[in-house]
Amino acid sequence: MQERQLIFESVLPSELDPARYSKPVIDGIEQALTVTCTDGKTVTHNPAEPKVAPSIKDDFDDDELVAFAENLENISPEELERRAKKKERPNNPLFKYRRGVLSVSDLSAQIWCEQQLYYKFLYPFVLNDEGEIKRVDDKPHMLCGTALHLERELEIQTKVSIECKTREDSYGVRLLNMVQGINGLLTWNKPNERYITREMPIFGNMYGGKLYFRGIIDEINYDPRTHQLEVVEFKTRASKTAPKPQQTYTHEVQVNIYRTLLDELIQGQVDKSLYFERFNLQPSTPLCEAVRNEYKERGFPDINTLENAFDLLMKLTFRMPTITTNGAIEYILQSDATWKHRKEFQRDEKHLQDLLIKSEPFWLGTREPEGVDIEDAFKCQWCDYGEICAWREEKANEFSRKKKRLN
Ligand code: SF4
Repeated sequence: MQERQLIFESVLPSELDPARYSKPVIDGIEQALTVTCTDGKTVTHNPAEPKVAPSIKDDFDDDELVAFAENLENISPEELERRAKKKERPNNPLFKYRRGVLSVSDLSAQIWCEQQLYYKFLYPFVLNDEGEIKRVDDKPHMLCGTALHLERELEIQTKVSIECKTREDSYGVRLLNMVQGINGLLTWNKPNERYITREMPIFGNMYGGKLYFRGIIDEINYDPRTHQLEVVEFKTRASKTAPKPQQTYTHEVQVNIYRTLLDELIQGQVDKSLYFERFNLQPSTPLCEAVRNEYKERGFPDINTLENAFDLLMKLTFRMPTITTNGAIEYILQSDATWKHRKEFQRDEKHLQDLLIKSEPFWLGTREPEGVDIEDAFKCQWCDYGEICAWREEKANEFSRKKKRLN
């Protein structure tokens, strides 16, 4: 049995928390948002009172001027700089909705239905039958998945929160989780036991492509007897049946992306300046004391900046004994975590490369989103956008035109 590992969680000041940007707004007014908690109860977050600058209000009569002046009064220099940078960014889905970095689950969602993914960007909130505004992804089965993931994580790890002051600190914490997961493997001294680490962050642009990815690998395990490194993804099931091929397909792609990202990291195929550019980070910003201390306690006293942390990670991954040999998905039953179904599979690099070639133009804004093919129309039954989906309507019209011709 291996010793419990620590997994670090960054706590950012509220003004730097990315969650604050994602609020429902109607006609420029922020709305109350209802959120389901892990215990199934719901909480409604009411919007904060809008700030008004009274001193300026007294000086102007014209409504437009007042609005403009209030706006200026309330905008911090950092916010002005952020807006200026935003103007320089390309106006495509990759930068407009994802600030230049995709999560691995974005690609899985795209494979499921690209049109649905695009609708989620345009309409991320839904009004339910109770008149509450909720996030479209706020579904009980998703929360159950999150809770079970946390349970698996806490089987071998203990969460430790670190108070951060800057975004660079928070990325320093992510790199620390990678550093300690990999260092644990390098210093593993039980030749007959597997080493396991969970919730390992990962990043990179596969095969030097234009899309940049970030994600969290559920589990990496290493068998010192066979030198096999395995990437495992956990998924939950509502029933005790093996998942259908259409469901396992997206999960397999997800695992294959993680394996490719991890292997590229191990092989040193990572562009350092691209990492800082895509995540919009300053490599030389000093890390706060709390983050530096955690590195020091793990045996790395010379980590003062994010760049130092990045270089350390590269040094350690280069010493990894092997690249990933296996990929697996473990399905766990939502109502009984002792029921498991495991699927192992081979990597298909050519297929992954073809998939990236197909996906890239959508993100770069050079082609329109596409919905599902007629044989995958079953996906539309559970889709939140079925009633407004132009793609579905077009396919239905196409189908009835064909039918008329045949009759
Ligand atoms: S209705 Fe069907 S095609 Fe349209 S977004 Fe939903 S799943 Fe995709």
